Amino acid sequence: MQNKINVMNIMFDNVTQIEALNLIFKYLNKDNKGYICTPNPEMLLEAQKNSPFLNVINNSLLNIADGIGILWAAYNMEKHNSKLKAILNLPLIALYPKKFKTVLKERVTGTDLIQKICERSAGTPYKVFLLGAVPGIAEITKEKLQQKSPALKIVGTFAGSAELKDKDTIVQLINKSEADILFVAFGAPKQEMWIYENLKNLKTVKIAIGVGGAFDFISGKRKRAPVWMQIIGLEWLYRLFQEPTRWKRIYNATIKFPIEIIKLL
Ligand code: UDP
Repeated sequence: MQNKINVMNIMFDNVTQIEALNLIFKYLNKDNKGYICTPNPEMLLEAQKNSPFLNVINNSLLNIADGIGILWAAYNMEKHNSKLKAILNLPLIALYPKKFKTVLKERVTGTDLIQKICERSAGTPYKVFLLGAVPGIAEITKEKLQQKSPALKIVGTFAGSAELKDKDTIVQLINKSEADILFVAFGAPKQEMWIYENLKNLKTVKIAIGVGGAFDFISGKRKRAPVWMQIIGLEWLYRLFQEPTRWKRIYNATIKFPIEIIKLL
């Protein structure tokens, strides 16, 4: 078992992107059935007040840190446990992010992970289903993924929703598709709760992953920040300019989350 790091009661698996991919394909090969979460700072805050969500995250096959803020939190909890040091090293998220890759090894975004899973699934028997996002987006995502990996088998797409009225239709569609891998883009925590409640009814699905806004990025509906901004942990600033209405969510991830971590030290 790979080592686990506790951040705000969420047990993170200390894995790089490659290690996460290797584990996912090991689960697929072994006929495991389960789900993978990519918790980010916002999800950690939500899980503090939503215990069913916390429970769902901690029952996953794998929890992968999606956010440099989580690496910063893990570093300060394990290495220093000092409020002052955590405040002083906060600017290093932008100036020297490598410093924080010594406790949790790497930030792995959902968007990168699903693209890598698709690349590796091409030419294998594993079939993929894309669920969620607004109508039309999953289809464009499918086209983009298949342009990159023509041998990839995407056996279904459906916008749907996490609402109860859509449940039976979605379960039937996925069962008919005989998909092995399911990506769900309903946003957190809805997507994780949906997966937890419905996975047992999805007969052929071995691995399900809540992917947040990944389809929006892959389809081109939303643009990702330039790589240099992602590297220095400023993706949030790009998003703030792109979608100012998300300010509350960005505030939670960039201000509230570090404050809550510092309080715990
Ligand atoms: N979404 C959805 N149904 C909902 C809420 C969200 O299909 O009820 C989709 C939304 O269109 C987007 C994805 O869920 O494709 C994640 O949205 P969010 O803005 O939360 O993305 P994140 O911040 O996680 O990248």
